[in-house]
Amino acid sequence: MPRPTKITIDLTALRHNARCTATMAGSAKLMAAVKADAYGHGLLPCSEALSSIVDGFAVAVCEEAVVLREAGINLPILVLEGPFDGEDVLALGQYDLMSVVHAPHQLDLLEKSGTQNLPSLWIKVDTGMHRLGFDPGELPKIVAELQGQGARPVVITSHFADGENPDSALTVRQQARWQSVHQPTASATGSLANSAGLINRLAPSSEWVRPGIMLYGAAHAKPADAETLRPVMSLTSQVMALRAVPAGESVGYGGRWMTTRASRIATIPVGYGDGYPRSATDGTPVRVGNRICPVAGRVSMDMITVDVTDHPDCEIGTPVELWGQHLLVNEVAQYADTIGYELLTRLTGRTPRNWRS
Ligand SMILES: *Cc1c(COP(=O)(O)O)cnc(C)c1O
Repeated sequence: MPRPTKITIDLTALRHNARCTATMAGSAKLMAAVKADAYGHGLLPCSEALSSIVDGFAVAVCEEAVVLREAGINLPILVLEGPFDGEDVLALGQYDLMSVVHAPHQLDLLEKSGTQNLPSLWIKVDTGMHRLGFDPGELPKIVAELQGQGARPVVITSHFADGENPDSALTVRQQARWQSVHQPTASATGSLANSAGLINRLAPSSEWVRPGIMLYGAAHAKPADAETLRPVMSLTSQVMALRAVPAGESVGYGGRWMTTRASRIATIPVGYGDGYPRSATDGTPVRVGNRICPVAGRVSMDMITVDVTDHPDCEIGTPVELWGQHLLVNEVAQYADTIGYELLTRLTGRTPRNWRS
């Protein structure tokens, strides 16, 4: 008998979110970010479910793009980090991949291997994230250089560092720098917005949008006018043990949590060995049956303990949701000093995933 812990991926919710996102994108083309195994939701099942709704896919590295192509995905695919070496450049050509170019050494790689057979190159401009990209002032020279090498259409691209905060000085600065480099023309179109940029309408005139997290129903920003986006992943289990613990005892490793009254403790078979965060503090919400109950004591490798003293109906086998449709992953993340993105992408593979269409 397998333990009852499992991950359910709701592909209907994914498609619903993609359709909402396509509506919000308006005339912009929709490129779904499916890097990191579709944010932990499964690269192939998610991409296949999305392929009739979106206009393309964004992955971080060539290896991820090759998996998509070899599975028969024919839509445009963008490699967000571009080539690391000559072999990657060859793969770009062989698999018909669009690529970001973010630094001079990549221009050299492309020049050596030829850019003529690539579908398009996306020049990354550093508008303020200061992670990847060329300075805005260098852009005209680089566009000219690539077009001189015979590169096919060039797309100008950049990335928000703080799109969740539309009025922050950083976002405003990035928008201003973007406007200085992005003149939509036939030979150089643009792409700026991720989920937060799209939801907060920070880049109205771009030709492509590149949302990820909102497709999985875990964006921080809430769309004002669109339908509600639905959580796609649920991590669920059942109560495996229950005990009465007297007042003044501790629960779990290190004795971090102490009972202040006669308590009932439920043990759930999920732990950091599955990707449930060890950093989850006492009080992290867990949905037991249809009530929210607090984590009590340190997360173990294979189990957590939850205070169900105020939940008299709780018994062995009561269903548990760690995050999902009723308990947002971002809410859990807050208690673990992290973000939903991290919890979704760092599941370890021990817990079986089921895709429901
Ligand atoms: C991951 C990523 C995205 C998608 O970001 P979300 O916040 O998940 O919408 C878009 N663009 C780039 C460059 C990325 O790395």
